Amino acid sequence: MHPWTPDSWRGRPALQLPAYPDAPSLQTVERRLQALPALIFPGEISQLRERLAAVSRGEAFLLQGGDCAESFDEFGQEPVESTFRVILQMAVVLTYAAACPVVKVGRIAGQFAKPRSSDTETAGGVTLPSYRGDIINGSEFSPAARQPDPARLLQAYSHSASTLNLLRALAQGGFADLHEVHRWTADFVRRSPQGERFEELADRITQSLAFMEACGFDATRAPQLHAVEFYTSHEALHLHYEEALARYDERKQRWYGASAHMLWLGERTRQPEGAHVEFLRGIDNAVGVKIGPSAKPDDVLRLMDLLDPGQQPGRLVLIARMGADKVAERLPPLLRAVRQAGRTPVWCCDPMHGNTVTSSNGYKTRDFERILQEMSLFFAAHAQEGTYPGGLHFEMTGQDVTECRGGAQALTDARLEERYRSACDPRLNGSQSLELAFRIADVLKS
Ligand code: PEP
Ligand code: MN
Repeated sequence: MHPWTPDSWRGRPALQLPAYPDAPSLQTVERRLQALPALIFPGEISQLRERLAAVSRGEAFLLQGGDCAESFDEFGQEPVESTFRVILQMAVVLTYAAACPVVKVGRIAGQFAKPRSSDTETAGGVTLPSYRGDIINGSEFSPAARQPDPARLLQAYSHSASTLNLLRALAQGGFADLHEVHRWTADFVRRSPQGERFEELADRITQSLAFMEACGFDATRAPQLHAVEFYTSHEALHLHYEEALARYDERKQRWYGASAHMLWLGERTRQPEGAHVEFLRGIDNAVGVKIGPSAKPDDVLRLMDLLDPGQQPGRLVLIARMGADKVAERLPPLLRAVRQAGRTPVWCCDPMHGNTVTSSNGYKTRDFERILQEMSLFFAAHAQEGTYPGGLHFEMTGQDVTECRGGAQALTDARLEERYRSACDPRLNGSQSLELAFRIADVLKS
């Protein structure tokens, strides 16, 4: 294999990257990013890999969720905090149900670049470049907003840094303490059936803690009760940004991606000869790969050889996103081929991206029941093949949006316009997310 360098991807075909009109200003930005501190450090990256190794052995479950795309405008404490608290709630539901540790990874603090199926968008007879995420251009439909602007890379870095600062405080500064479990529920969720079910669970947890403490258990000596580990991830799409944040660890003598704990390859950029695979093969982070319905067993094995030649535990997360109508047919042959090759990646289910439809009134949406269906067929395929269904990858927000149909709130087409805020894909809202966790918990228990 030819030698890897942080810029060796530049010799490969790179899909989904913008053409910057002004190359010198892009280079200036890249140099500034190279000089800025790492956002994530090697020790934390290794720690996530150890946690994922436990998932690959069937000893833990991965919960990876957050926005389809974060936005510079909607940035602030509330969106981050509400997403964080819903992921915590879902993790508690699953930990309680399956009595198994949950590895929590946000699609957050760097999820700013979007692959698009078309390079342009036409509206009212005007054709403009597609919106590619806030790290590249603006979502507003105007020629100025849609122009790729390298200064946005620096903004993405600084938004990621502040989001991380907040996440680290939330995870370690007392908010995530299990004694505070009653404070995690947002008001609009509290009034829903899932909210009530969660409050019952929270009561049981509070009683168990009180019981153990009455028996002499010293909770102050159990750090697991007071803080959580929370990791970040995003799609490694914008390679100029990722290269500028690649850092060399002198101690381990390895390169790592310092923009997130985990990076993933999208369904549209996983060509074995492509630039994205080339970049990811050289860094030491946990790496995800989206696997859609067109993937053949040999494609998956080839990618595994390229990205994980040493077969290291916790290195690879294969994220199946087949669609509810295809998963039962397409997933089992892949599970079988990977098992027969003696490989044990983490297998994770993304029940969102194969189930996107357009509503009668023109919104991009997803049906809650289809999401659940793909999830349960994913579990069934693993049961059939004797492999471990290791996790869930999903798009959500803690806020009370109306973007996906169905759920206990029975959201209909007509109600999508009430609070449809996503500039990209439709997300589950706080109560739909919690409902998903309870439904998965029911499957895990049975
Ligand atoms: C995504 O995760 O937002 C995404 C675009 O997924 P995929 O690459 O699976 O289509
Ligand atoms: Mn998406």
